[in-house]
Amino acid sequence: MSQIKIISLDAEGTLVTPDFSYNVWQEAIPALYAQRFEVELPQAKEIVTAEYDKIGDQRLEWYDIHYWFRCFQLDSPEPLIQSCRGKLRYYPEVIEVLSSLATQYELIVSSGTPEELLQPLLEGISSYFVRVFSSTSHYRQLKSPDFYLQVCRAMNVGPDELVHVGDNWQFDFLNSRKVGIRSFHLDRSGNNHESLSDLRQLKPYLSV
Ligand SMILES: [Mg+2]
Repeated sequence: MSQIKIISLDAEGTLVTPDFSYNVWQEAIPALYAQRFEVELPQAKEIVTAEYDKIGDQRLEWYDIHYWFRCFQLDSPEPLIQSCRGKLRYYPEVIEVLSSLATQYELIVSSGTPEELLQPLLEGISSYFVRVFSSTSHYRQLKSPDFYLQVCRAMNVGPDELVHVGDNWQFDFLNSRKVGIRSFHLDRSGNNHESLSDLRQLKPYLSV
């Protein structure tokens, strides 16, 4: 087996808690919608959520905040993104794990989140990463097997020299495995014994 050179990490649910995104999608956008169309907040939440569900997470539009702002006839998303920054949280072990891994490996982020949301998400930890890849912004696709190949190409390594970790079974685990990347699924509930339950559990596997 080739030596591991690069550790790739997913962002949301892996490094960053869902609080920021929840606030953007489930609170702030419905609040703007309620204001714009003069409806009560609970009703706005229902309408907005129903529209999200119609698209679903297998389509690119789901991730595209500009699409949703157009769809709901709202102005620019930038002030809303700024207003949600106070909700940004990293999982407790993240800084310790990144500090430790960064002494031996190059660290990258491979995320499906578009750049305009990914940048604020990573602002407190961006110094640990040599590169940040957004499949939706940079490659116009979800985290498909092809996306992972493109990441390897961009980093100038073979799939067997990169390890990827993320919390989505399909987008992080299965799709990266399909191209020969040694990937790990993260399930923070701890209910799945085949998966890592936090990022501290990764390191012992890297030297094996
Ligand atoms: Mg994730």
